[in-house]
Amino acid sequence: MSASRFDVAGISVSPDHFIDGRRVASSDTFECVSPIDQTLLGHIASGNLAHVDAAVTSAAQAFPEWAALGAAARQPYLQRFADAIGRRAEAFATLESHDAGVLRSRMAHGVVPRAMQNITWFAEHALTLQDRVIETPQARHLVRHDPAGVVAIITPWNSPLMLATWKIGPALASGNTVVLKAPEWAPLTSSLLADCAEEAGLPPGVFNLLQGSGAVTGAALVSDSRLARISFTGSVATAKWIAKTAATNLVPCSLELGGKSAFIVLADADLEAAAATAALMYRNAGQVCLAGTRLLVHADVAPRFTEMLRTLVESLVVGDPREAATEVGPIIHPRQLERVEGFVERAVAGGARVLWGGKRHAFGAQYFAPTLLTDLRQRDEIVQQEVFGPVLTLQTFKSDDEVVDMANGTDYGLGGVCYGDESHAIAVAQRVRTGFIWVNSFGIRDLAAPFGGIKRSGVGREGGEWSFEFFCDVKDVVVPKQPFKASFSHR
Ligand code: NAD
Repeated sequence: MSASRFDVAGISVSPDHFIDGRRVASSDTFECVSPIDQTLLGHIASGNLAHVDAAVTSAAQAFPEWAALGAAARQPYLQRFADAIGRRAEAFATLESHDAGVLRSRMAHGVVPRAMQNITWFAEHALTLQDRVIETPQARHLVRHDPAGVVAIITPWNSPLMLATWKIGPALASGNTVVLKAPEWAPLTSSLLADCAEEAGLPPGVFNLLQGSGAVTGAALVSDSRLARISFTGSVATAKWIAKTAATNLVPCSLELGGKSAFIVLADADLEAAAATAALMYRNAGQVCLAGTRLLVHADVAPRFTEMLRTLVESLVVGDPREAATEVGPIIHPRQLERVEGFVERAVAGGARVLWGGKRHAFGAQYFAPTLLTDLRQRDEIVQQEVFGPVLTLQTFKSDDEVVDMANGTDYGLGGVCYGDESHAIAVAQRVRTGFIWVNSFGIRDLAAPFGGIKRSGVGREGGEWSFEFFCDVKDVVVPKQPFKASFSHR
């Protein structure tokens, strides 16, 4: 363990990278500042080319042995990894609320158990990745899933623990080795993950962590021609750069990106249930990729729905995410706050009406009030672009055709929500062009199910068998049924 570890609320955190099974310091560092009250939490290592090279080299060296172990022998390592996360549940919850502003209550009860499952579920299901046999008259095809090699995993700041484990789990379980690049605005829980990997006894190089900026550390990682896969979650702009860079080495990418999802309320919806779910869109201060941020409400029920939602929003507790009662926390960074504010100011200047919020919140310097804007046109920036803050828009419609057009009328296609009589809601949901959509519900994410977006919201699917498809190379071992006679006239 490095002597440079520092304390956050009594939890010891390493500021260093984790490369080849040990902590590696950097002479360059960056500041990790809490969004709650702008406290300086620590100075974190900033990765350079040499660190990236060392991490990828270590992962490449560890790969053959880890791959050859097989899923059954890897499972105990991954179980110990998950157990180590579980033993630190409180520490993960505390750290992510300090550096990412995520609600501590949600971390403890939802995110940490899910992070453990992200590891154990894939470790168990990797056992079922057996050769599939395709029989034809002339041959038996033994179709295998072989691990691809060194996987780069790059995560954003809005849910670092959940998003890292969601990719690390299937990547390691199927026999790859990993280099994780943590988000620079919320680096602490990724560091704790490296402690867990060490405690679990993962062989050196199987899991590596790089800290640092996207522009330097992330860019160097993505440019490394030894990578076999890149799994990225983040913004569209970064994804375009990553995809272009990966293309120069022909490295397959999985890209999980932003959203501007519709939250549809049909005239036959249970309005109380719909309003309660709509209020959840302010959770994590709206910094949630899959939130349904465009409320599309049937004109006949819009006034009643809006008043129900107003009542719920007025009772939301905006405050310190470490407090159990808090429901809406801070915005991650002053730059993100300015971005959110800019969207709202431009919308209002363009004619939008503020139904509530619309400005910073008095609780603290990095807080924005839960906001609802209306009187909008489909082409307005606030309807088209992801804000990634506690800002929802409200538009009304009169027919299913109209709401389907509105829902599909952006460049994004991540998720969606549709409230209504079940068969009616399913019929409308099926016409909305997205990677997934929840009917009369929100946020149900089964690990067996596919997850990902279409259009600008992403490329590829992860989750369940789709994660294994991405992290593995499919190979066909062809065995002839008749003795094979070599001949130039043979097909
Ligand atoms: P971002 O694209 O700025 O950064 C994401 C990660 O990429 C960070 O670790 C960053 O350091 C790194 N990065 C930046 N430039 C890089 C480069 N040139 N090369 C390699 N890595 C680089 O995104 P963000 O602001 O951290 O996250 C918010 C975005 O993430 C939102 O758009 C949100 O919708 C999206 N998101 C999507 C999902 C999903 O599952 N679809 C989930 C969470 C967040």
